[in-house]
Amino acid sequence: DAKNRGRNRYCFYDSKLQAKVLARSALQSGLRQALSLQQFSLYFQPQYHSDGQMLGAEVLLRWFDPELGPVSPVEFIPLAEDSGLILPIGAWVLQQSCQQLADWQRDPVKTHWHLAVNLSVRQLHDPDFVKLVRDTLQQTGARPENLVLELTETQLLEDIEAVIAKMQQLGELGVRFSLDDFGTGYSSLSYLKRLPLNQLKIDGSFVRDLLDDPSDEAIIRTILALGNSLELAVIAEGVETEAQYQALCKLGCQQFQGYLLGRPAPVEQLTVTPQRPGL
Ligand code: C2E
Ligand code: MG
Ligand code: MG
Ligand code: MG
Repeated sequence: DAKNRGRNRYCFYDSKLQAKVLARSALQSGLRQALSLQQFSLYFQPQYHSDGQMLGAEVLLRWFDPELGPVSPVEFIPLAEDSGLILPIGAWVLQQSCQQLADWQRDPVKTHWHLAVNLSVRQLHDPDFVKLVRDTLQQTGARPENLVLELTETQLLEDIEAVIAKMQQLGELGVRFSLDDFGTGYSSLSYLKRLPLNQLKIDGSFVRDLLDDPSDEAIIRTILALGNSLELAVIAEGVETEAQYQALCKLGCQQFQGYLLGRPAPVEQLTVTPQRPGL
């Protein structure tokens, strides 16, 4: 009867909620120790130009906890942001990334590669962040012009004036900026003009349905035109199939990242071999 069903349903939600809370606190306490236990590692995913040359890579953080197993950044980054742990974790990512970049810059074959590092807006708002980036560049000897900081469009929209000011200070150090997951937020064009950006990154969701959904094609077309008129490079993420790659080339896209070209992997697996020249 209704009463029973109601009660069962209530119990069902309750235990689900409880499991969620438990999982969350297990993750929280694991995350708190992950840095000192050296459970983080960095994966690198290559980015290519349509002329076939490798442009560089994006750094993607990985966490392996012996009890929990591998934990996706989609799960632990929000937790790290809520708890403030993103500051020490982000500093570690930046340190390791700049070290890697400096290594590449000493290798004549890789000297022009850039490295894209994901930022949380929480890091950007940290009063010590500009100094952290300056010091890390200095300590590692990495040239700033090959360091790309990725910020997601949705993160920028809160407190945009503070974000613009901070990005300008970082821009003066010589680092570059890419606007990640572009198209999923609601950036006004006037803000886009004021942000010191170098690249727009077309969100993978538009690439995924590009061949089936005319509105996704229209959005990609628009982002490419926008990049053109604001003189920003445009890269497509989440390129998984040859057909998507060719369709993007036809639309005029020149930079690519995705499983088709290379999965995120330890740095040793990055190769300089040219891939799939465009049309
Ligand atoms: P993102 O920056 O948009 O990174 C792209 C995500 O798409 C990565 O997921 C990558 O593994 C995945 N991906 C790449 N190519 C393909 C493809 O062809 N198909 C599909 N379906 N997926 C693809 P990942 O590594 O799980 O990272 C998820 C998100 O976590 C990232 O999204 C980024 O926002 C965040 N993240 C990762 N590392 C860091 C970090 O060091 N700091 C911060 N703040 N966030 C990070
Ligand atoms: Mg990214
Ligand atoms: Mg992205
Ligand atoms: Mg994304």
